[in-house]
Amino acid sequence: MDKHKPLLSVVVPIYNEGSHIVSSLKIIVETVSQITSTYELIVVDDGSKDDTWKHLDQAAKDMPGVIALRLSRNFGKEIAVCAGLENASGDAVIVMDGDLQHPPTLIPEMVRLWHEEGYEIVECVKETRGKEPIGKKIGASVFYSMLDKLTGYDLKGASDFKLLDQKVLKAWMDMHERVPFFRGMTAWLGFRRVELPFNVAEREVGRSRWGVLSLIRLGAEAIVSFSTIPLRMVSLVGIGFFVISIVLAIQTLMQKIQGNAVTGFTTVILLLLITGSILMISIGIVGEYIAAIYHEVKARPRYLISDKTIHSDLIGTDRE
Ligand code: UDP
Ligand code: MG
Repeated sequence: MDKHKPLLSVVVPIYNEGSHIVSSLKIIVETVSQITSTYELIVVDDGSKDDTWKHLDQAAKDMPGVIALRLSRNFGKEIAVCAGLENASGDAVIVMDGDLQHPPTLIPEMVRLWHEEGYEIVECVKETRGKEPIGKKIGASVFYSMLDKLTGYDLKGASDFKLLDQKVLKAWMDMHERVPFFRGMTAWLGFRRVELPFNVAEREVGRSRWGVLSLIRLGAEAIVSFSTIPLRMVSLVGIGFFVISIVLAIQTLMQKIQGNAVTGFTTVILLLLITGSILMISIGIVGEYIAAIYHEVKARPRYLISDKTIHSDLIGTDRE
């Protein structure tokens, strides 16, 4: 290995992508090897249930610079990215999807911005989101504007397609969140950053792994790990209702004193329903935070690696 050239790591999380993943990896390796001969491509099999591992294992044997990691089960994309990053040893590391929706043609420009212009984070920002169900588009837009209001991080258009300098990677590794949200965490880190717009390509083969429920879960986790405003909102709503109930109580007492107490059945039912539902929502929000604390306190390992295959040209290096 040439010690003078920057070493580039590329991390790709992969779940149930089957045999077509090999052609994607070939394209990525081809692009990267044109930039530097000292690279590593870390593919993380996120507990695929199909034959993905067989192909990744073979790819690591056949293709120079490829390291294949297999997680012991499906931990989710965020965790798969963590596993890849923690095993990367490059001077810079690029994270990208394995379905080529993150165009590898951007890699040379990302590396140039880092290497020649000294940016420490190069973020590829979605200019268009590609073909997606309308519900997902609307959901994403609602989620990002909520996240922006609650946390102050404007991640609209943000993607996980990023280049991080080694320095940034090191800082990122010091964040030991059990439930990581990669986009948010890199935004929190700061550092010298530049944005690179791109259009999300069509998914050529396979299909998106994200269902509505998994996206809602990711969204809730992201907000809980980056903002405590929802907790404060619970208290504010409580205070609001306390004020309203004092006003109502005074009014009711006045009417009682004046001797014209109304039956007020409707009011009672409405108040019961409203306070009941607000209380339920509030407890739910508090519960989300308790769940987050629970995960942190347990301090289980974020992931477990069950297999590792590295290409023979990397054996004997510190990546072994
Ligand atoms: N992925 C993963 N674990 C999962 C789900 C997805 O590693 O539990 C990988 C997937 O193989 C792909 C990337 O994450 O390389 C992006 O997933 P997908 O294309 O399904 O998401 P979308 O592009 O629809 O956001
Ligand atoms: Mg995709």
